[in-house]
Amino acid sequence: MKRILVAIPTQEMARAAAFYDWVGLIKVPEGYELLHTRAHGQSPARNRNIMIQQGIDLNCDYVFFIDDDCLIPPDTLVKLVNHNVDIVSGLYCMRNYPHKPIVFDEALDDGTCRWTQLSGPDEGLKEIVATGMGCLLVKIDVFKKIQEKHKYWVTLGELEADHWCDDLSFFKRVREAGFQILIDLNCPVGHIAKLAIWPNKIDGVWHITYDTDGPQRHSFPLQYEQQARLRIPSEKRDTTYLNGVMQIQITNICDLSCPNCSQGCNLKTHPHSMTLEQFEQAVISVKDYYGVIGVYGGNPTLHHQFPQICEILRKHIDYERRGLFANGLSGHGKVCAETFNPKYSNLNIHGEMNVYEEFKRDWPEALFNVKGFDHSRHTPSWVAIKDMEDMTQNERIKAILDCDINRYWSAFIGLYRGELRAWFCEIAGAQARLHEDDTDYPDTGLPVEPGWWKLPYDSFHNQMVKHCFECGIPLRGQGELDNGPIEYVSATHLPIYKLKRADGKMIKVVNRRSQLGAKLGRVTDYIENGYLELVGSK
Ligand code: SF4
Ligand code: SF4
Repeated sequence: MKRILVAIPTQEMARAAAFYDWVGLIKVPEGYELLHTRAHGQSPARNRNIMIQQGIDLNCDYVFFIDDDCLIPPDTLVKLVNHNVDIVSGLYCMRNYPHKPIVFDEALDDGTCRWTQLSGPDEGLKEIVATGMGCLLVKIDVFKKIQEKHKYWVTLGELEADHWCDDLSFFKRVREAGFQILIDLNCPVGHIAKLAIWPNKIDGVWHITYDTDGPQRHSFPLQYEQQARLRIPSEKRDTTYLNGVMQIQITNICDLSCPNCSQGCNLKTHPHSMTLEQFEQAVISVKDYYGVIGVYGGNPTLHHQFPQICEILRKHIDYERRGLFANGLSGHGKVCAETFNPKYSNLNIHGEMNVYEEFKRDWPEALFNVKGFDHSRHTPSWVAIKDMEDMTQNERIKAILDCDINRYWSAFIGLYRGELRAWFCEIAGAQARLHEDDTDYPDTGLPVEPGWWKLPYDSFHNQMVKHCFECGIPLRGQGELDNGPIEYVSATHLPIYKLKRADGKMIKVVNRRSQLGAKLGRVTDYIENGYLELVGSK
């Protein structure tokens, strides 16, 4: 039976506890037995020399050096022995960034060596002039031959008096003794390093910087699976117009009264309209917003100063980003054509063909985006998820985190008790406005100051806690077509649910998700959802 001496030099203990686990996994090549030895001491050269001598004394065929900062995959020794060569190494890299492979392909006159550049096609056995000794298999004959001329196999400070260089001087002797030195590029070895991990902001982006105490550092963007949370206005949506919509509700007046209107324009409320000064302040606050600035209602074209509103918008926002979200033109087609980009407008005529004719006449460029020739479907917004007795709190949270309006739609500027306020979500703003007469209701809106939309997550957290649990959007209830008779509401919103036009309508008070019928796919697809054949309780 042939013998391999597994030789591990250490200063004290191995530098990583996992090292011994890996050593224990090394597979024994067929026809061999493994002997193990350790040498501990300050000088790695002396440690190695002691173990080489043991290998000779024990009649071993090979010495297999493993450094205590190297992780050797279990099949490495088998692969190296099978080459049946005098000296062969596994491949490992420097611990210091930029982590050069420890492979040298040219010996220079001063005894030092030139680093090899590995290239894509390099693989398998490669002849080299030197490498490290961290994963090195050496036939015992190599040591015996060197011994003929040298007292020591390994020495320190031979190439540079104040440096270790034990491996380079060893390989120099190997070459001088006439042996070919090989490395197996298919035998990768882990090199255990200590490193400092620095948080680091580069060009406004958070990075991680690795510092391995080498000549350079390496930085890469900080990426990790984000904890699930709702998006805030500064976070872009992939699928929305220009990655985000900022709705400015200039009025809550609407000529229609669709059941389950998400802005509650089907309810009896105080009519609210922004002043021109308020509107200009709102627009200026989002001048540098990346997405679409939407003029929003109710039906915004019913604002008593709509042409002046348009003028202010044109003054501050470029055409590309000016959107109109309206169910009709109210005689303002020409100013709409001058002001709004139809590509980023939402023009739902709710089946009113006379409105379509007005578009045709006064804003024909927008016809391609006019929709709602049939009836669209409104999911019930005024059924608070917190009132659903057949849901656990975890189920509510999960549904909220999956909210379509948050994923695909808009932030919001509106009025609350006559003052300008901002919310992360248009439904949150609608809730606040509709409950504003309740003197105990909290003022959750943020002051509308330039750049408010860039505020961090914490600034919007109170809005989320209050409004999301009082919202029906995450329930994805099948709701009602916009000409349908049923209005859904739950206890939280019942006090404000007084219909503007009660004729033929029925208010259904619910306290269970199961009362809302089939689940919609994406609630923001309200046009497409209008064609769905839905089943479930009504
Ligand atoms: S859904 Fe639109 S058109 Fe219908 S009531 Fe609400 S704001 Fe008016
Ligand atoms: S308030 Fe409603 S619509 Fe807005 S993010 Fe919260 S759950 Fe979604």
